Amino acid sequence: MTLQRCDTIESIRGAVRAARAAGRTIGIVPTMGNLHAGHASLIDASVGDGHFTVVTIFVNPTQFGPTEDLAAYPRTGEADLALCEAHGAAAAFMPAVEAMYPPGARTSIHVAALTEGLCGASRPGHFDGVCTVVAKLFNIVGPDAAYFGQKDAQQAIVLRRMAKDLDFPIALHVCPTVREADGLAMSSRNQYLTADQRRQATALHGALRLAAERIARGSTGAAALEAAMREHLAAHAPDGTVDYIALVNPEDLTCVQDVNGPVLIALAVKVGRARLIDNLMVDPRDRL
Ligand code: AMP
Repeated sequence: MTLQRCDTIESIRGAVRAARAAGRTIGIVPTMGNLHAGHASLIDASVGDGHFTVVTIFVNPTQFGPTEDLAAYPRTGEADLALCEAHGAAAAFMPAVEAMYPPGARTSIHVAALTEGLCGASRPGHFDGVCTVVAKLFNIVGPDAAYFGQKDAQQAIVLRRMAKDLDFPIALHVCPTVREADGLAMSSRNQYLTADQRRQATALHGALRLAAERIARGSTGAAALEAAMREHLAAHAPDGTVDYIALVNPEDLTCVQDVNGPVLIALAVKVGRARLIDNLMVDPRDRL
């Protein structure tokens, strides 16, 4: 099937209406474009579940802070469309900023508590922007299922809460992080890295693995695990600046002192121009 490109709200609604009339269920994959294998895995999951799959491609200005990389964010529309088509997506929704935020728009969605720590602490307003745009995309497309990446773990947890609180009848799926061969999580922001920074960036995954291995061997103290991760980053990514390293409860994102159940180990590190994030879910019951 050829990919339908929809630039307006009316046209994507029409495409979805026709698909529903033909008996299809709808899957949505929200993205900011510059698509890579991580995004493709979400498209594959939706297509694999049998949905008429809508990939939304929209660099959402409201989720960028005033000093962040909105202007520099890579925009690669034609290549994105080719990737969508190659992976069997049915439609790409690529709205203009003015269509999503017409003059006079005054509504935004705030999910409390879950957005305060981790990325929320250093990116004020970021999750309000994410929640607002995703709620709008849910309302525009009206999907049965939505696909997000574990790479942005806090985002997935916040959006799951939002969907539940606002009664969106949508099944949320969180798909595993897709990594480069050396462990670096795929991200559009990796291309900001110089060759040397790119080598150093593998230390994020290295630090996560180090903590996961220690937990598997019986370590439980979060403070010592964080210190070991910090040491690993200092040694292997000397140009990196740690924003946060945290061990949190994956349900409510509260800090964990003693690891005696499933834990989300998450970190954000600025390397050169790129703010990189990564995480691992670890369960100490999976002891080595
Ligand atoms: P973005 O375009 O960065 O806003 O990401 C769009 C979606 O793709 C989000 O649900 C991300 O979590 C997901 N995603 C981004 N990178 C990866 C990755 N390396 N593996 C899996 N999913 C990813």
